[in-house]
Amino acid sequence: MEEHCIFCQIIAGQRPGEIIHQDDRLIVLRDINPQAPTHVLIIPREHMESLNDAAQSDEALLGYMLRTAAKVANQEGLAENGYRVVINTGPQAGQSVYHLHLHVLGGRPMRWPPG
Ligand code: AMP
Repeated sequence: MEEHCIFCQIIAGQRPGEIIHQDDRLIVLRDINPQAPTHVLIIPREHMESLNDAAQSDEALLGYMLRTAAKVANQEGLAENGYRVVINTGPQAGQSVYHLHLHVLGGRPMRWPPG
């Protein structure tokens, strides 16, 4: 746990958050500032600053995060119309919380390329 990390604090129960699913490896949190009708975050319990810090030993975790994204998207009713999974990495990509997470967004049409 990183003391000053918002997501570590939520995982530790030291900060409120709308957790819709959790298990031994990750939590699924509703984004506090949603950018689509459904906007949830898949957050590993283990602190890792960004995708850049993922090692070979994290490959199973990364795969599990993606499969959980699909499962949650289905539970949220997004399977038919589609959804987007995003990992912002670093300042130019707009990463604002330096604890690795996947965004799952859906419930409205989306454009490409992203801004
Ligand atoms: P990123 O900008 O890719 O690092 O994404 C960080 C996301 O975390 C943003 O979409 C924020 O709205 C979201 N966020 C920040 N603080 C909280 C919080 N306390 N609870 C839920 N989501 C949060």
